[in-house]
Amino acid sequence: MRILVKGTGVAGLTAAFELARSGITVEVCERNAEPSRGASWYAGGMLAPWCERESAEAAVLTLGQEALDWWDDATPGLVVRHGTLVVAPARDKVELSRFASRTAGYRWVDEGEIAALEPDLAGRFRSGLYFPGEGHLDPRLALKSLHERLCTMGVRFHMGIPLDEEPFDRVVNCTGSAAIGGISDLRGVRGEMLYLATPEVSLSRPVRLLHPRIPLYIVPREPGRFMVGATMIETEDAGAISARSMMEFLNAAYAVHPAFAEAEIIETGTGVRPAYPDNLPDVTQDGRTIFINGAHRHGFLLSPAMARQAAEVVCQTLSQKERDHETSGEWRRA
Ligand SMILES: Cc1cc2nc3c(=O)[nH]c(=O)nc-3n(C[C@H](O)[C@H](O)[C@H](O)COP(=O)(O)OP(=O)(O)OC[C@H]3O[C@@H](n4cnc5c(N)ncnc54)[C@H](O)[C@@H]3O)c2cc1C
Repeated sequence: MRILVKGTGVAGLTAAFELARSGITVEVCERNAEPSRGASWYAGGMLAPWCERESAEAAVLTLGQEALDWWDDATPGLVVRHGTLVVAPARDKVELSRFASRTAGYRWVDEGEIAALEPDLAGRFRSGLYFPGEGHLDPRLALKSLHERLCTMGVRFHMGIPLDEEPFDRVVNCTGSAAIGGISDLRGVRGEMLYLATPEVSLSRPVRLLHPRIPLYIVPREPGRFMVGATMIETEDAGAISARSMMEFLNAAYAVHPAFAEAEIIETGTGVRPAYPDNLPDVTQDGRTIFINGAHRHGFLLSPAMARQAAEVVCQTLSQKERDHETSGEWRRA
């Protein structure tokens, strides 16, 4: 029995991992010569189910909580479990109260506690919300690590070359926004981001700055490097970052710490998040193809749950006669 996974974004690699560890023979194909440069490449890597609940359905919280352990298991040593700090400029304190009213799993922190958590932010914010159960990872390192692990598990990769799907018993399609138009109701949500480099600032955890228009955050990478994101724009346009978005990001970074004014902008990027109307991912089946898509802004948070669901669907279909009807939407009510 051979399964083909299409796409080396977070949906594809997590699915390949769950399938391979179920004992199934898996091969992975990617249309590009390099592993994923899709939305996954530009992600913040926040594993933040409680914060995300502020604007997402309950399933994001229930299914997202398993993500930290999953990534720890699949990519040992890459998950940082330092929680999330949410702050707001003094004039926007009401925004903090509003955020608190829509979330759980936090505690209020005052100026002294903020300084204890993030010494470089001492004296900059009077109050904030600290979500201790959350974590983050570097998506690029995590995908590389997962790719290498899959290779050691015997999974074959076919990069940048068209592959005949016919010999495979099942195809797991994880092609992200490339499937827009082919999967009904799937749309693109543009997310811009940039990387800053400065030795003057040190952060231990993602810092979210509440903002009336953009959910802004700074995620620390290796020492002296920071990912700043991310816009949410209803378009499939993956073109270069706009001047407006760049200004919003730089203003936000400067509001978090003035030393960011002297930082180098070392990269800008745009990813198109694949999303369904309810902004929840889904595992669907059409004949012998299983689709995992629609992760929206939660690819790293929810792919472990989606991958497990897809592996269950594959195992069920392998153990039964051919089932060619669609099975959609069941997993999220689990
Ligand atoms: C700026 C930004 C910040 C984000 N931050 C976070 C975050 O902090 N936490 C979080 O959980 N999520 C975050 N996300 C969301 C997350 O990145 C997406 O949900 C996720 O990347 C979607 O993964 P995917 O595998 O479905 O798609 P993609 O990553 O786009 O991967 C699809 C892959 O399929 C390949 N492909 C396409 N067509 C074919 C074909 N015909 N054959 C073979 N391969 C094909 C593509 O080349 C690509 O490699 C963020 C997204 C953005 C843009």
